[in-house]
Amino acid sequence: MSVENLEFKTEVNQLLNLVIHSLYSHKEIFLRELISNASDAIDKARYEALTNSDIAEKTGEFRIKIIPNKNDATLTISDNGIGMTKDEAIMELGTIAHSGTMEFLKLLKSREVKDNPELIGQFGVGFYSSFMVSDKVIVITRKAGVAGKSAIRWESEAKGTFTVDEVEKETPGTDVILHLKSDDKKYLEEWEIRQLIRKYSDYIDHPIVMDVEHEKESTVDKGKKYKEVTEETLNSRKAIWLKDKSDITSGEYNEFYKHLSHDFKDPARIVHYKAEGTNEFSALLYIPSISPFDIFYQDFKTGPSLYVRRVQIMDHCEELLPRYLRFIKGVIDSSDLPLNVSREILQNNRQVEVINKSITKKILDTLADMKTSDFDAYVSFYKELGKVLKEGVHFDFARRETILDLLLFESTTTEPDKYTSLNDYVGRMKENQEDIYYIAGASRDEVKMSPYLETFRDKGYEVLFMLDEIDDLIFAQVTYKGKPMKSVIRGDVSLDDTNKEEKAKKGEEYKQLFDLVRDRLKDDVKEVRFSGRLTDSPCCLVADDNALDPHMERMLKSMGKDMPSAKRILEVNPTHPLIESMYALYNENATSKKLNDYIDLLYGQALLLEGGKPKDPAAFSRTVTGLMLEGAKR
Ligand code: ADP
Repeated sequence: MSVENLEFKTEVNQLLNLVIHSLYSHKEIFLRELISNASDAIDKARYEALTNSDIAEKTGEFRIKIIPNKNDATLTISDNGIGMTKDEAIMELGTIAHSGTMEFLKLLKSREVKDNPELIGQFGVGFYSSFMVSDKVIVITRKAGVAGKSAIRWESEAKGTFTVDEVEKETPGTDVILHLKSDDKKYLEEWEIRQLIRKYSDYIDHPIVMDVEHEKESTVDKGKKYKEVTEETLNSRKAIWLKDKSDITSGEYNEFYKHLSHDFKDPARIVHYKAEGTNEFSALLYIPSISPFDIFYQDFKTGPSLYVRRVQIMDHCEELLPRYLRFIKGVIDSSDLPLNVSREILQNNRQVEVINKSITKKILDTLADMKTSDFDAYVSFYKELGKVLKEGVHFDFARRETILDLLLFESTTTEPDKYTSLNDYVGRMKENQEDIYYIAGASRDEVKMSPYLETFRDKGYEVLFMLDEIDDLIFAQVTYKGKPMKSVIRGDVSLDDTNKEEKAKKGEEYKQLFDLVRDRLKDDVKEVRFSGRLTDSPCCLVADDNALDPHMERMLKSMGKDMPSAKRILEVNPTHPLIESMYALYNENATSKKLNDYIDLLYGQALLLEGGKPKDPAAFSRTVTGLMLEGAKR
């Protein structure tokens, strides 16, 4: 095969550019990333070897070897792991498979990344970080379990292209050969390599070895010194999750988290325990302090890594945790599952179920503890990930109350940027109050002025603000401590209405006007009636009990969902002078242009008040202008 010249995909070029020019002060992480890849490759080979004896025999002891060569200024990271085929090498080292990463890259500017390296760290700079310290990178890789010595030589200077060529390699696995930049020769020094491995890769399960020169004294010829080269293991190799808590420093815990998550920030909480008994396992789990950028993407990988007796079975085992806890990173190491456990077995496995139950409870308990013992830290966690946790209210019926207790809300009584819990809300409920009231909207500013809150405010009822898109979907059917949650926008919310009878009588009197209004607005409004919820505003629109919240409807439409608008109820304020004036106009002349204009404006206002806009803003504005001119003439 002759050398093939290929181009990196655009997004790889972009990533390379960001990595090389923005992560400059963090460049020593390249070694961690490459050792991490080597270790993953060995995990895969070890797993394959369970069923393919060929791999086990050919490979010998799994290890990662670091080979500094001062003569030609190269640093080689060599592993005897799974290796890559030609197609895999082209695919894995020339594209970015993860769709979320590509979208995110489009949004990133290198200047932002320079100031916030965690932005790019989040999706793992991985292999490409080698170009921070190298002018040229060569990868020689041979797939394990494939007959023959045929291997692939991949080479690039990160200038938009790479080459692949067919070569021979004696053993399966991968050598990554870095031609170090002249400023980065320090990474050839023994002490530097030792220190980096201790700092970043000590917990790696496989031996990381290097040939080290020792000065020895001859036993025959006393006093004469000579040099001997021995292979030394540089990492302690103890799987951190199996160590005793008291033997782990917070630095070690945090480094391991960063290895797992690619996060640059320390985690918010660490959960580390051993379950004993019939189902033994060790869990080391992390609650992050910031949200991964791609947490809402479809292909976001969920679940901790699963190990069986220190052998990695899979990177992300989604059966181990519910999806609303997908931000949790970590490792579960089971003593009881079979080593050759498959996806299908995992799906219906009792032991997996038990582990899932145990760690879900531990995580929710830890969050609850954080909420009581360190509220500020909990608030900053919640601002990042509360939205994800909240999904549990909908999906995890059995733990609904526990999750509801973890939620935070702003409300008509909280200061901006301060929060209340449902439990505290219930504690403040008025004596005769049966429901938990909420209003959904895009922002605090939008909802706090809403006409729907007028009587609630006047009568001293607290209303929660639901400011996340999914809130109305989640809370419409929820009951907390026996109290149903109700949107104040829905039709059936009525506070103790003292003027009920009087209103009904007046409604009868105004019936013909209301019929006329409904006729004129028949495309959008199904009923017109007096309202008990307004004090200052003349009118508002309310949804039918079983209809979608208008905020939700607007959101779905903005996402391109084609859906018919639900007709709503126009509620008018019986004590507002405008309604009385309209009634007078009606009695004068039920078909006048002026009355029709008033009806249109009334509806336009109702839309404005709930954060929408009039159906025809130009016509709305023209009518307002006409009325203003008329008023000015008087
Ligand atoms: P990540 O490790 O986050 O997937 P990388 O850019 O570091 O991203 O690596 C991309 C892919 O290249 C890996 O997922 C793996 O498939 C492959 N790869 C990298 N290094 C090795 C290696 N030493 N042995 C085998 N495959 C490797």
